[in-house]
Amino acid sequence: MGTENIGETIQKIRDANPNSLMARHFDESYYNSLDDQSRAHLKKIILTGIENPDSQMGAYAMAPKDYDEFSPMLGPMIRDFHAIGAGEAVAQEHDWDTGAVACDLGAIDERLKDISMRVRVARNVSTYPLPGAMSKEERINFESMMARAFTKLAKDPTFGGRYLSITPGSPYEISDGEYNTRVDAHQMFKDMSSDPYLNVAGISADWPHGRGIYISREEDFLVWVGEEDHLRIMAMQLGGNLNALFERLRIGLMRLENMIPAFAVSKSFGNVTSCPTNLGTGMRASLHMKLPKLTGNGQDLDLLKREAKALGLAVRGAGGEHSDAGSDGLVDISPTARLGVTEMEIMQSLYEGVAKLWAMEVGRA
Ligand code: ADP
Ligand code: MG
Repeated sequence: MGTENIGETIQKIRDANPNSLMARHFDESYYNSLDDQSRAHLKKIILTGIENPDSQMGAYAMAPKDYDEFSPMLGPMIRDFHAIGAGEAVAQEHDWDTGAVACDLGAIDERLKDISMRVRVARNVSTYPLPGAMSKEERINFESMMARAFTKLAKDPTFGGRYLSITPGSPYEISDGEYNTRVDAHQMFKDMSSDPYLNVAGISADWPHGRGIYISREEDFLVWVGEEDHLRIMAMQLGGNLNALFERLRIGLMRLENMIPAFAVSKSFGNVTSCPTNLGTGMRASLHMKLPKLTGNGQDLDLLKREAKALGLAVRGAGGEHSDAGSDGLVDISPTARLGVTEMEIMQSLYEGVAKLWAMEVGRA
């Protein structure tokens, strides 16, 4: 930033990147009203958006209490992203009762009865700083605590499995080869050390220390340790029954929750996450679908992104966020909303949205 003041720097970002929510809601007088320590902390939260002007949110929380403490800046960003009006109350409710929701993808089309389904929730425990502010020692301690919980979970009749670590020297350490195989299988997370958004925020620091995954014997219940949030807890299945997928996650989450310190929650924003986009349910439910016509055989995602957006859905490439579509048009489709909606509503919007996208795909010449 040189000698330029932060207000000028952010003004330039605002001019060049009208979609940056950090720049849109940065208020220099609020920033200057903070004491030195709080100002330095807020700067750390928004640094990713300063160094990566193209990022849409441009902020990662460093501690669970940041959302309350810095609400004059983060509140408007969150409301803007999640389309919550200024006077409208934010109250996150939870409802996992998906029994009454149509959920059989095979009923949309036979061809959808065997697709890859994934649903994850982001969770952070209240006793540690968020990943952007953890020391190496805290990352390693956190992983050890989780490994102890996983020894208990490993004995569970339905969620039993094992923990795989990529921390050098860990008793659970796996080889580079196995790590790469698990990344390709979409089970393990990618090397975070090359992600500029996470790097600037400190989230990928000390890579690969303190990182690993728990995986059930059936390989359908997984827990990521030490990625963008302390934990990403997920169910993954091949099939078409979204209800069974959600139920698998719901039960597994309950089992695990009983074995570890309480999750960090905010009164208004629900589950606390590093990125404000994930607040609330912390849930992303996605399908890996082949949509060759809507993607020009995977070469052009613009049309699909437009159509999906109108249905409240986001499109990612087949390798996750910031990746490209497969040449067969394989993409990742998920509802965008996480905050102010329930888990049941997320499943419903995925099902309904995908039914409409699929009708467009098969209806195209
Ligand atoms: P998130 O941020 O929600 O955890 P990412 O976009 O980082 O998700 O993707 C994480 C991994 O999960 C990637 O390998 C991605 O391809 C994979 N993935 C996402 N949805 C599915 C799905 N429905 N089936 C299989 N793999 C999936
Ligand atoms: Mg991610």
